[in-house]
Amino acid sequence: MAYYELTIKINSPFRDNLIQKLTEAGCLGVIEQDNGIIAYFPETIDINAISGHISLFKALLDKSGQPSDITFNHKSIPHEDWNETWKKGFHAIDIGERFTILPPWEEKKKDRINIIIDPAMAFGTGHHETTRSCLVLLEKYADKTGKDTFLDLGTGTGVLAIAASKLGYRQVVGIDTDPLAVEAAQKNIELNQTPDVQISQGGLTELSENFDVIAANLISGVLVQLASLLAAHLKSGGIAILSGILFGQEDDVIEAMKVEGLKLVEKYPDGKWVSLVVKK
Ligand code: SAH
Repeated sequence: MAYYELTIKINSPFRDNLIQKLTEAGCLGVIEQDNGIIAYFPETIDINAISGHISLFKALLDKSGQPSDITFNHKSIPHEDWNETWKKGFHAIDIGERFTILPPWEEKKKDRINIIIDPAMAFGTGHHETTRSCLVLLEKYADKTGKDTFLDLGTGTGVLAIAASKLGYRQVVGIDTDPLAVEAAQKNIELNQTPDVQISQGGLTELSENFDVIAANLISGVLVQLASLLAAHLKSGGIAILSGILFGQEDDVIEAMKVEGLKLVEKYPDGKWVSLVVKK
């Protein structure tokens, strides 16, 4: 399999909105740079349609009086180069009080909770604000939750599930609708020697058990859609850490959760993103 590499120069404050659009259109991963982003797509994608999305994005910004100076080009890269490309953009990063996320080819850090992540084709290296926020909140609330059952909804690389396991949660489940994410998460569970973490493919409707903590780093629209199912899968007194919410969209999510009986406990902003902690 080969990949498309799209180099997009963008100097607009709406860069994160563009990343979100590309992710929704099937982008496998993004490397952020000072003057833009590099986005990867599978070769099966219709690259002309993606170019169309970007042009439309630019046109909408221009029209709304926010001229953006976006330019882009793409090239095809063969499979063998894929991992090398990722390696260049992926280094160890400290998060919160105790976590370090690192790729398998870097040395573990002493006195930290090391989480080894080989991103493969999944989202969740810890470099994105939303993953980072989830980890900070996970660490902050771990001692307040009894550390019993934990669900990572939309597990991606498995990073949050592995973190929960290393923090001492008794039973950790990760689910994802994307088979490539499931494959990546399983590999990372092996790398971290956390075999008790159970990963499966699917969504909330496939799960029968309820949890003390649910982490869901999705996007606002999906969080709103899933509010009722999410509340149903939380134990009474349980908390949900919700992320992937762009600044300005948090009230919709808070309202949807409130309707389901979940109370806001904390708002945690990071850059253009906001994460929420809600309690049943
Ligand atoms: N938890 C990781 C990855 C978040 S990316 C982190 O915090 O970094 C979001 C993931 O959710 C993607 O892997 C996507 O495939 C998955 N996903 C999206 N909608 C979903 C749904 N309705 N149910 C389960 N997984 C979903």
